[in-house]
Formats: sequence, C-alpha cells, structure tokens
Amino acid sequence: MKKIQAIRGMNDLLPDESPYWQYLEKTVTDILRRYGYREIRFPVLESTDLFKRSIGEVTDIVEKEMYTFEDRNGDSITLRPEGTASCVRACEEHGLLYNQTQRLWYMGPMFRHERPQKGRYRQFHQIGVEVFGLTGPDVDAEILLLSARILRDLGLGDWVHLELNSLGSTEARKTYREALVAYLEQYREQLDEDSQRRLGTNPLRILDSKNSATQALLKDAPVLTDYLDPESREHFEQLQALLDANGVNYTVNPRLVRGLDYYGKTAFEWVTDKLGAQGTVCAGGRYDGLVEQLGGKSTPAIGFGIGLERLVLMLQAAEISPPGLGQQAQIYLAAVGEVQSQALQLAEQLRDALPGVSLLTHCGGGSFKSQLKKADKSQAQVALILGEDEARNGSVTIKMLREDKPQQTLSASEAIEYLRAELQP
Ligand code: ATP
Ligand code: MG
Repeated sequence: MKKIQAIRGMNDLLPDESPYWQYLEKTVTDILRRYGYREIRFPVLESTDLFKRSIGEVTDIVEKEMYTFEDRNGDSITLRPEGTASCVRACEEHGLLYNQTQRLWYMGPMFRHERPQKGRYRQFHQIGVEVFGLTGPDVDAEILLLSARILRDLGLGDWVHLELNSLGSTEARKTYREALVAYLEQYREQLDEDSQRRLGTNPLRILDSKNSATQALLKDAPVLTDYLDPESREHFEQLQALLDANGVNYTVNPRLVRGLDYYGKTAFEWVTDKLGAQGTVCAGGRYDGLVEQLGGKSTPAIGFGIGLERLVLMLQAAEISPPGLGQQAQIYLAAVGEVQSQALQLAEQLRDALPGVSLLTHCGGGSFKSQLKKADKSQAQVALILGEDEARNGSVTIKMLREDKPQQTLSASEAIEYLRAELQP
C-alpha cells in the first residue's frame, strides 16, 4: 500500500532539529518580554474577506498564494497567510485599540501556496510584532532596535543588514505610481511578463522584480523618495536621526516596497546574502491606514514579521549550536539487575534536587555493557550506574562520559552535590 506523505511544502520538525526552534523561541520571546511586549493568540483560520480587504486584491498573496476553501456551511475561509490582519481583527473585536496603545507579539504557522524551495515553504512560521496607537518615529526606532537585538542576541548580527525606506502617504504613492507607470510604459515590451501585468495592477511591485532586464530599466526610473509628502519626509528624517544616535546601521533603499498594500511611511527589511534568493529574514513597516480600512477607528500602527525557518537556516549556516543539540539528556541512569523500582525512585529524587538538569532512566533491562553503550549514544555527559550493590547501600556510581575522570561510587546525597557542581550552569 502506498504510504501517505506530508503535503508538499509542509515540513515535519524532527527531534534532532527542535533544539534550534526552542532556542529561537526562547531567545526571542524573552527579548519581547524585556521590552514590555505582550503575547496575543488568534486562530489560524479567518474569513477570506479579512485578507482580501487588508492585504489587497492584487497582491501576490491574495492573487495566488492563499489556501482558501469553503467550510461545511459554504462560508469562504482562509488559512492565515500572515498575522497582521488577524491581529487587527482580534484587537478590534475585543476593544483593545480604543484610546490605548498596545505592544503585542504572536508566534505560529502561516500558510502560502508558493513554490517550495530552500527557505520558502507552504507552511512556515513567523514571530510577529505589532504596535498600535503610536505615530512614531520614536516607536519605529524602538521596534528596529528590538529587531536588531533579536538578531544580535541570536549571534546573527554579522550576517544581516537593515534596509530602510519610506513609502510616504497614500497620496504621495499615488502620484509616484503615475510617474512610474508613465516611465515604464515606454519600455513595456522590454519588461518581464509579471511586470507587464503589474503595470496595470500593482506597479510598485515592479521595483521588487528579480528580472535583470527589468532591473536595468529601473535604474533611470523615477524614485519614490522624490515624491514623499513633507510629513512622511520629516518622519523619515527623524527616524534616521534616532537610529544614527542609537548605533543602528542601515542603508536607505528607495526601491524597497512591501508586498502588501497596507504599508505606508516606514518600511524595512533585514536581509542576508547567505540564503540565496530567500534573503529577507525579517520584514515590516508602518500601516497607519489598516485599522480604519478594516472598519475601526483610525489608529497608527507599525509591525514586523520574522521568518523562523530562515533564522534556523542561518543558525545552521553560521554553525551556531543551541544548547542541548544532539543530546537526549545530560544524565543517563543505567539500572543493572533487579533494581527497577530503586532506579525510578533515585531518578525522581535527582529531578527534585536538580530541576535544571535533564535525566533519562534506562528502561527495559539489559547488560551493563549494552546500557553504557546507550548512555554513550544518547550524548549524555554523565552515566549513573545503579546496580544491585548500589541499590542495597543507597549509593550510585558516577561515570563521566566526556571527560577522563575516574569513576566513583557516592551516596545519593553526595551524588546530588557532585552533579550540581558539574552540571548546573
Ligand atoms: P518574500 O519576498 O521572501 O516572498 P514576503 O515579502 O512575502 O517575503 P512577508 O510577507 O513580509 O514576506 O513575511 C515576513 C517574513 O516571513 C519574510 O521575511 C520571510 O522571512 C518569511 N516568509 C515569508 N514567506 C515565506 C515562506 N513561504 N516560507 C518561509 N518563510 C517565509
Ligand atoms: Mg512572498
């Protein structure tokens, strides 16, 4: 019988890899706590209209990447392709945006029907950060400092750089769009197919094109920066001054646009050249119009999303090992002979006394030799050996597996002190 396999582009996360994820999640959520950001959770399914109305009908995501289907009632529902729209929906629904500011984060799977390749999957994971109720630019600088700290504390600071742009007001973008279209229309035939189509639908996205002929044409195209409204220009200048004063390095990239319609003013990406074409690890910007667009009271907002798969790939490429990688437990307790009950009891005693330490009890019997082999294979640092003699005397034998030290037999309480000194950080 043909075995059933996972859906294309949707990954299993195996135990050998989970230390990377736990390290990431722990590091990032800890930083968010230190900045006073609070977690919000919302469903993975939403009404399709939520994404159409927020992300925009003529974006890549809505046009061709969404997992949309009808449920049993015939309602159109969609697996969330990103978190911002859901976050706004949830905040509005529960009155979190009324006359107050919110600094929020969430983490979880997102779904996009893209062509799977390294760093691009159909189910992927993001940590998202959203701030509501603050016009900036101080808070824009805060979340850039926050994202910089995340990458730095993970050890990836040297692997990424920050690109920054201002997308201006809706009006400014409209004027710029007309200028860009007028320019590109002259070269319509030389544009790649995607860009030709976008000329009529979402011309700003042409700036993002990976096609080299199109990129060459863009060299002399009008630049968004020249079309910024005074307010956006001032906001952008102030933001740059705050970043300069706080030691954040960046380059201004006037061609940086975001793939979603709702962004305006500040837009940014943390990019790397270590992951091939999938070089953006963190992306975000200001979306002051979205809350109102979704039916709420006009509320300034800014946020970003970090792709966790890409961070894991970078950690691996940078050979950064999270704690516990390759190790099942720090201590392997071998139980040799008729000592099952005493072994379980000793294990519980050790876990009570050493809560920071991981201990695995050998189950299923077997010879001393075979148990020690398993201890070694588990990558534990210490083997504890409980034989019938030890069980009778209330003692245990300690063998350091990765250091050249003589093995010794100690009382249970001596063993606890010894292990505390050897293993606890
Ligand atoms: P890209 O240009 O790579 O398609 P995007 O602009 O569509 O990215 P966003 O919607 O801004 O991406 O999502 C934020 C982050 O989520 C990206 O920077 C990336 O790290 C991650 N991401 C987006 N799509 C995928 C995917 N299909 N697989 C893995 N990670 C993804
Ligand atoms: Mg994309």
